[in-house]
Amino acid sequence: MPNQATRKIPATLIPGDGIGPEIMHATVRVLTALDAPFEWEEVMGGMAAVARQGDPLPKETMDSIRRTRLALKGPLTTPVGGGYRSVNVRLREEFELYANLRPVRTIVPGGRYEDVDIVLVRENTEGFYVGFEHFIPIKGDPHAVAIGSGVNTREGCRRVAEFAFDYAVKNNRKNVTCVHKANILKALTGLFLEEVRECFKRYSDRITLDDRIIDACAMQLVLDPTKFDVILTTNLFGDILSDLIAGLVGGLGLAPGGNIGTEAAIFEAVHGSAPDIAGKGVANPTALLLAAAMMLDYVGESTKARVLRDAVDGVIRDDKVRTRDLGGKASTLEYTDALMRRIEAAAPARA
Ligand code: NAD
Repeated sequence: MPNQATRKIPATLIPGDGIGPEIMHATVRVLTALDAPFEWEEVMGGMAAVARQGDPLPKETMDSIRRTRLALKGPLTTPVGGGYRSVNVRLREEFELYANLRPVRTIVPGGRYEDVDIVLVRENTEGFYVGFEHFIPIKGDPHAVAIGSGVNTREGCRRVAEFAFDYAVKNNRKNVTCVHKANILKALTGLFLEEVRECFKRYSDRITLDDRIIDACAMQLVLDPTKFDVILTTNLFGDILSDLIAGLVGGLGLAPGGNIGTEAAIFEAVHGSAPDIAGKGVANPTALLLAAAMMLDYVGESTKARVLRDAVDGVIRDDKVRTRDLGGKASTLEYTDALMRRIEAAAPARA
C-alpha cells in the first residue's frame, strides 16, 4: 500500500445505468469533499456500453479493473435476452471475488427494530449460482424435467470461511453464525459446514461459532435480528438473506456491498438500476455512499470512512433530511447538500 500521506490510489469508476449516474455523482462529490485518495478511471458498463460497444462489460472496462484492482460500480441493467451473461457474475468470476460482504445496521429510527447490526458474508462464486442446469424432454415436451446442480469445493468453502473469521476478528465482532441446509443438502452444504468448522479451530480463542439451518435462520432473523452478529453462508442463501436483512433496516436504499477477492475488490450498492425512478432526481444515494465507505476502509482510510458514516447517520437521524424511499421529501441533490454540510463541519476533526 502506498504511503498514507502522499498516495493516490487508482480506482475504476463505473457510473452504471438508470439511477447509477445520479447516485454516483452524489457519491463522488462526497468523496471529493472527504479528500479521498482515489484517482478515478471512469469507464462504461451496462446498457450504455451495449449501445456503444455491443457488450455490457467492454474490454477497456475489464482492462481498467485489471490495472487498478479496485472499483466503485453503479448498478448495471442486465440486458434481457440477446445471450448476455450476468455482468455481476462475469466480474466475480474474472477477478475471483469470492467473498460478498454485506453489512446492515439500523440508521432510520422508529422502525420495527432499533439495534440491528449484522454483517453477512456470502460465498460469491460457487453453490447453485454456477448455473449447471438443463432440461430433459419427454414425449414432445422439451421442458418436461428441469435439472440444476450446485458446486461447492473444499477450497472455496475454506477461503470464504477464513475471510469471515478474519473480518470478525479485525472488526471486533464476537460471533459468526454459519447458515446452511446440511440436514437435506448433505453433500453440497454439508461440505460447507464441515469446512467452516474445521477452519474455525484456528480462531476459537478469539470468536465463537454457531450454526443454523437456513429456514430456522430466516424466522429467527425476523423475530429478533439483534441475536445475530456475523452471518456466513453459501451463495444462494446469502443472496436471499441479504435482501431480508436489508428489509429489516429500511430497504435496499441503505444496503451496501463489497465483492472481495485476494487480488481485487469491487464495491457497489446492493440495489439495481431502479428504472422506475431514473432521471427524476429522487434516488437515495446512501447505499452507494456506504459502499464507498467500505472502499475507504478497504484501502486503510478508516477515519474518512467513519466521517462519511457519521454524516449519513446525522443527516438521516438528526437533520431528518430523507429521500422518498425513507418517507422523506428530499431530492438526491438536497440530501447530498445536507451531507456536504455535515462533512464540511467535520473537517477540523479530520485534520
Ligand atoms: P431495483 O433494485 O433496481 O429496484 C427495486 C425497487 O427499489 C424499485 O421500486 C426502485 O425504485 C427502488 N430502489 C432501488 N434503489 C433505490 C434507491 N437507491 N433509491 C430509491 N429507490 C430505490 O431492482 P429491479 O427493478 O429488480 O432491477 C432493475 C435492474 O437492475 C435490472 O436490470 C436488474 O438486473 C438490475 N440489477 C443490477 C444490480 C447490480 O448491478 N448490482 C443489482 C440488482 C439488480
